[in-house]
Amino acid sequence: MSTLDELPLRDDLRGRTPYGAPQLDVPVRLNTNESSYPVPQEVALAVVEAVAGQVRDLNRYPDREFTALRADLAGYLGHDLTAAQVWAGNGSNEVLQQLLQAFGGPGRTALGFTPSYSMHPIISAGTGTAWADGRRDGDFDLDAAHVATQVEQAAPDVVFLCSPNNPTGTALHPDVVEAAYEATSGVVVVDEAYAEYARPGTPSALALLAGRPRLVVTRTMSKAFALAGARVGYLAADPAVCDGLRLVRLPYHLSSLTQAAARAALAHAPGLLATVEATKAQRDRIVQALPALGATPVPSDANFVLFGGLADERETWQQLLDHGVLVRDVGIRHHLRVTAGTPQETTAFLDALTDVLPGGAR
Ligand code: PMP
Repeated sequence: MSTLDELPLRDDLRGRTPYGAPQLDVPVRLNTNESSYPVPQEVALAVVEAVAGQVRDLNRYPDREFTALRADLAGYLGHDLTAAQVWAGNGSNEVLQQLLQAFGGPGRTALGFTPSYSMHPIISAGTGTAWADGRRDGDFDLDAAHVATQVEQAAPDVVFLCSPNNPTGTALHPDVVEAAYEATSGVVVVDEAYAEYARPGTPSALALLAGRPRLVVTRTMSKAFALAGARVGYLAADPAVCDGLRLVRLPYHLSSLTQAAARAALAHAPGLLATVEATKAQRDRIVQALPALGATPVPSDANFVLFGGLADERETWQQLLDHGVLVRDVGIRHHLRVTAGTPQETTAFLDALTDVLPGGAR
């Protein structure tokens, strides 16, 4: 046995911490923003049938261009998108990695606005891309002018915007995306992993793609589609962006089983997305209930709620865990993040918090 310190690791990876959301076997798991609802039985059967149909052909490599899946994804997204404008990977994390391999990399810089999705800087590090830490204002918002100034100052090659933003929950106004795009000659990536949960009237950056060849919108089937285990993420952009990704992706990166499962799931999109409204109702219930317990929720367009007002977030995290409820410490002082799941999970979370917080003492 050796330690990593003794191995000839890349210097720029020394001392770094890997992604590490705890995977603990507790009754109420509300820490990684998965859907709490299992895949409905009829969709599960359709996925099994589609996957089974591929098994005898596993002697052959899959369609390297996953053309049928891209057409299905384009159809789901709407906005007159075509298969040529869509690309997919094993989770949107892989798609983000390919974007950085193609448009970031050594000698290049990515800018994101902290706090945001923790994997943006981690994937940047993995691809040798320097990271520039942009800032949000006190209530975690971003306005167009503030973003434009920061983009101009950092002069990045890749800009990450996250809408709705993980971990704060709020969606961006399209003005902010437009301002970022105008302020850079680099690629602007809008990570819309939680788009399906946005409150009514929240526009997607998909509407801004036409005429903006450096704009990329990433999505995932891990959240609203309840398919985190299948690992399917995707993007929409100018077809030339997909040409860039072809240079860095591994050949046949999407297995024929993954492609078949994703297509079967997309064919049942309404059935899979049926729980989105129920999840939003739980999110809104959490936001409404927290102030009475002495916690301060941040408004959310996602399937989670960031809440502040905690004297010691680590202690609260541990106490909730002791009550069988796993939430996420996202590294923001006095705050924790909780995923909106089933009504029973919300009740368990709120009951536990009531026990734990002085303001909620019964
Ligand atoms: N973007 C955001 C903002 C996320 O929160 C996540 C997952 N937590 C992802 C991308 C990646 O998800 P996946 O790789 O499962 O598509």
